[in-house]
Amino acid sequence: MKCPKCEVEMQLGYLQTGNLIAFNKQRHKISLNPKDPEDVMVARKAFSSNDFSGYICKQCGLICFDYLNPKSRL
Ligand SMILES: [Zn+2]
Repeated sequence: MKCPKCEVEMQLGYLQTGNLIAFNKQRHKISLNPKDPEDVMVARKAFSSNDFSGYICKQCGLICFDYLNPKSRL
């Protein structure tokens, strides 16, 4: 997969995390829980880790992954 930002070939891998991952429109200082209707709770697993298949661009720092289908390859 080519990076949509700089068009260098991206490296396949896994984005792995502990508890919550949220993509929020504004920064939340205390809780990551969604506040805005456009906020997205990417993963909520308190007792197991999260594991997303995806691609990283080491040139510009972009990571792409499918949060709805975490095991699928892009
Ligand atoms: Zn890039």
